[in-house]
Amino acid sequence: MTSISQNLHSVEQRIADTAKQCGRSSQEITLLAVSKTKPESDIVAAHTAGQRCFGENYVQEGVSKIIALAHLADIDWHFIGPLQSNKSRLVAEHFAWCHTVDRLKLAQRLSAQRPEHLPPLNILIQVNISDESSKSGIQVEDLDELAAAIRLLPRLTLRGIMAIPAPESDYPKQLAVCQRMAKLYHALAEHYPEVDTLSLGMSDDLDAAITAGSTLVRVGSAIFGARQYPTTSE
Ligand SMILES: *Cc1c(COP(=O)(O)O)cnc(C)c1O
Repeated sequence: MTSISQNLHSVEQRIADTAKQCGRSSQEITLLAVSKTKPESDIVAAHTAGQRCFGENYVQEGVSKIIALAHLADIDWHFIGPLQSNKSRLVAEHFAWCHTVDRLKLAQRLSAQRPEHLPPLNILIQVNISDESSKSGIQVEDLDELAAAIRLLPRLTLRGIMAIPAPESDYPKQLAVCQRMAKLYHALAEHYPEVDTLSLGMSDDLDAAITAGSTLVRVGSAIFGARQYPTTSE
């Protein structure tokens, strides 16, 4: 086994163990392998080991990989980085999901630019749940209005919400933040039947996120190893 496949298996095991401890089925939880800055050969290795969902943060880098790896079967590509409006077209044309929608203008562009021959783009609204220093994500009180507006856009499907909580090493504090997100998610899912995704949990807060009810965890370095070069924005 390559180390990527070993790493994948240990992350899957960690998800399964945590799910079991809190009485959830691990089937409810999708593992998104975050492959930003990593070479195509690493994605091929993870795909060979059975991984199908991959997350990329940078538009150009992600699109080159999607084009180069178009021969790999059944991949779902998720865009999870900050998205400037002037780069929305590449996301609309190449990805299956966008996790970082936090304003109506961006959603309108993605809907208008989504090609006819593709299914609607799956959308998660990014919520700024705890990170006051970050400009990404909408405030909690603005969520309902943005969700209602996005649902009216013809080429998008609103699937749920996403957050990148401020780093926090204390488990009870991590859990409290994750539970706030879960509450928002359940309220939205009650309104809208197609809402089925809470994108929450990275390497450091995976256990708290799963315990709170996350349905999609985003894991990079625990699968592919530490990233070699700093992740500046495009
Ligand atoms: C990089 C990144 C991850 C994965 O982070 P790791 O610490 O490598 O597991 C998850 N979510 C988002 C939005 C990211 O940018």
